[in-house]
Amino acid sequence: MPSSPVLFLAVPAADGTTTFTPADALAPQLRVDDLGATRGDGVFESVAVVGGTPQGLAHHLDRFARSAALLDLPAPDTAAWADAVHRAAAAHEPRPELLAKLVLTRGVEGSGVPTGWVHVFPGADHTEQRTAGIDVLALERAYPSDVVVRAPWLLQGAKTLSYALNTAALRYARAHGAHDVVFVSTDGDVLEGPNSTVLARFADRWVTPPPELGILDGTTQARAFAWARGRGDRTEVARLGVDDLKTADALWLLSSGRLSAPVRSLDGVPRPTDAALQAELLHHLLTVAD
Ligand code: PLP
Repeated sequence: MPSSPVLFLAVPAADGTTTFTPADALAPQLRVDDLGATRGDGVFESVAVVGGTPQGLAHHLDRFARSAALLDLPAPDTAAWADAVHRAAAAHEPRPELLAKLVLTRGVEGSGVPTGWVHVFPGADHTEQRTAGIDVLALERAYPSDVVVRAPWLLQGAKTLSYALNTAALRYARAHGAHDVVFVSTDGDVLEGPNSTVLARFADRWVTPPPELGILDGTTQARAFAWARGRGDRTEVARLGVDDLKTADALWLLSSGRLSAPVRSLDGVPRPTDAALQAELLHHLLTVAD
């Protein structure tokens, strides 16, 4: 029997605070003139809920607030959103892994009132990709590495609802026999996946590209770095080229839903994976919440 998803709707007050009320997740709730639906004008976060506990929630809420600021949306009432995530996760039938999706849109056109909700539901089953690994293509993202300063209106680095490009890149990968994508800037910087962060291991050094390149600061990556430091390894936020990915000892794509997926091929060329390290990393991500 599939379990029912849980929905809490945000009710913003004039003083900037927000309350959340439960609603039917299987019934229509959004107006057709909501700018989140018509323009993708809004921000979101997907938070892993493992064993009932939201993972990296403070980091997610931080990023949610930063994304909202980049879009000139009202600052989310962070304490109220945190409370709603906990309440919605607790209201869902227990599952080993769930996802909590937090959405804040510019609201119904002309209203000036944002629309928000927290939706908790079972995510996809990632067992296969976590264990067998993934085939990845490096694809052009068609912006330069200094996009954030050159063209801030492109909103790179904000987690907006405009993900049509991201899903198109994933469809392109699948149509070409791969599972996933690593985006590359016009000047050759490795950026991020359409919904993941790149992690490369060079001996005992773990490297991820910097958010200054117009990419998200990954919450899963931050938790993976904490794990790596805990085992005595070095962690570094540094620029990488595609050639660096080719010489890394191992590569992963990290994200809240799938957690860690080892990259077993890049552009059709097999890559070494490390099953023991993947098991250790995944165990950490599944058992340590922050
Ligand atoms: N980069 C992009 C574009 C994403 O959409 C995501 C997650 O959905 C990530 C990186 C990984 O972030 P996190 O680990 O916080 O889920």
